[in-house]
Amino acid sequence: MRCARIPVLFGMAAMAAGCVSTTEPGAAGVNRQQLLIVPASMVERVATLQYERRALRALEAGRLVRRGPEYARLQRIAARLEAHAPFFRADAAEWQWQLILIDAPLVNASCAPGGKISFYTGMLRQLHLSDDEIAAVIGHEIAHALREHGRERMSLVFLQEVLGGKPRTAPPTEKEAETLTEPFIHALFVAPNTQRNEIEADAIGLELAARAGYDPRATLELWRKLQAHPQQRLPEFNATHPSAATRVQDIEALLPRLVPLYEEARAARADRRV
Ligand SMILES: [Zn+2]
Repeated sequence: MRCARIPVLFGMAAMAAGCVSTTEPGAAGVNRQQLLIVPASMVERVATLQYERRALRALEAGRLVRRGPEYARLQRIAARLEAHAPFFRADAAEWQWQLILIDAPLVNASCAPGGKISFYTGMLRQLHLSDDEIAAVIGHEIAHALREHGRERMSLVFLQEVLGGKPRTAPPTEKEAETLTEPFIHALFVAPNTQRNEIEADAIGLELAARAGYDPRATLELWRKLQAHPQQRLPEFNATHPSAATRVQDIEALLPRLVPLYEEARAARADRRV
């Protein structure tokens, strides 16, 4: 969808409000203009409701891990990544970051809009992740949230509804968060990311990890582990993703720009410890 077509439908004002890049390009250089018609507050409200329900269901099932070394390790790594998120967008400093660890045999993780991270013990235990690999996973998921990829998918649904003749004159608001129609819910929680969005999340996520002092080269080993894993992969790491070979090539091409950031961050951390 080219943003230049939007004025025909919504006028120049909507165009100006709708097509921006949510993040700074950084060293990774992601600078694509995004179609963002539905309000961020609505998307965040829907995502937060779903996140709270997931946490409650896990709590009721006795599967919400709230203490212990695994939880502490994830919290520590996520906190370091979160501290660098404002480099890509200043308002991330105000996000109410949360992390839940769910005890389930799923190789999965996610980050909902506004910084709500979910992680499953299956990913940690079955892939025997190092700290650098955990940072690659969480960084990738945070990058989807920073880029507001879910909001983009919902905006496309709204546009398709208008183009399809639905009698809608305005996008759904935050007040409608609990009564959204199925296509919007599907777009936010079920529809896979496009290959383009996955490439963006890889690039920004790895830069985030490097800036936080985690080795971005670890993502190559993470990929090897995911490929070798017999059955369970991140649901988003399947057919609609770029092929593993393409993805690894893209990551390898980025590393010369990201490894120096990692080495700088690691040296700064070492200085602080002296
Ligand atoms: Zn992804």
